[in-house]
Amino acid sequence: MAEKPKLSIYWASSCGGCEIAVVNLHEKILEVDRSFDLVFCPCLLDTKKSDVEALPEGSLALTLFNGAIRTAENEEMAHLLRRKSRLLVAFGSCAAEGCIPALSNLHSKEDHFRRVYREGPSTVNPAGVVPAPLTRVPEGELRLPALFKRVKRLEDAVEVDYTIPGCPPESHQIWNVVSAVISGAPLPPQGSVLGAGHSTVCEECRRQKDNKKITRLRRSYELIPEGNSCLLEQGLLCMGVATRDGCGALCPQVNMPCTGCYGPPEGARDQGAQMAAALASVLDLGGYRGLSEEETARRADAVLEAIPDYAGAFYKYSLAGSVLRGGRP
Ligand code: SF4
Ligand code: SF4
Repeated sequence: MAEKPKLSIYWASSCGGCEIAVVNLHEKILEVDRSFDLVFCPCLLDTKKSDVEALPEGSLALTLFNGAIRTAENEEMAHLLRRKSRLLVAFGSCAAEGCIPALSNLHSKEDHFRRVYREGPSTVNPAGVVPAPLTRVPEGELRLPALFKRVKRLEDAVEVDYTIPGCPPESHQIWNVVSAVISGAPLPPQGSVLGAGHSTVCEECRRQKDNKKITRLRRSYELIPEGNSCLLEQGLLCMGVATRDGCGALCPQVNMPCTGCYGPPEGARDQGAQMAAALASVLDLGGYRGLSEEETARRADAVLEAIPDYAGAFYKYSLAGSVLRGGRP
């Protein structure tokens, strides 16, 4: 029997949701198994890094790499899997844009260590011990991968062939990409985004848009959306206008605003800036004429009060890939 092409699925700094999205292929997972030999997947298999190191260069047909690059180990694995893979895909929002882990770029490593290992409400650490790459103990040396100062995208570490966005990517979109690889059909040019569209979530959202102005924003728990009208026009911060399509506008269909997990749409460099611009165009501050600069700012602040955390709202998924990037390299 001919040898099957080899597949690997790796997680770096991630939550495991991308692996669950693969399992959510349901019975199609059997087709994946028929078509590929899954040789490396720390979440599911017991093969080790040394097994990957022993493979000839370029022998993995496809690697789906999820998770951001946060530690020296993440980066080492990115280089190893790049060398061994013919197709390396940034799989999911963490690998593509940094996602939630990259929000930590707004604070220093020292701040994180202090908060997590010394000041946490359930932490008891009178000696103030924090993790270190090397610790000497009577029994020998303990080593941990070094934590980087800032979280990076996969493409900041190695060359990436394709990106599949989403937190996590929608399973039907994963299948679209995997089945295209299985069929041997020509893939789009290197560097393309796969398993998503080229427009915005608003374009695929079936809610009614009336171009209404909004006088106040409200948080999701404050409002049960009415009927089928646009959530942004009802005052909920829906990121659909600044988010790539491809999920089928899942969240707005169930009365939840889009939080932006498919990242910026085609051609948009900065998802947060795009959303801020869109928001400015629908906010009604009660007229600008005759208002002092201070009064305009006061009214804008009053409307924006419903956003308790600007970075978490506008850059929840895309900070590492944004113009701000969040912290210095
Ligand atoms: S802002 Fe949200 S609810 Fe409104 S059309 Fe866009 S995706 Fe749909
Ligand atoms: S609607 Fe927005 S947050 Fe929800 S799955 Fe789609 S892109 Fe992600």
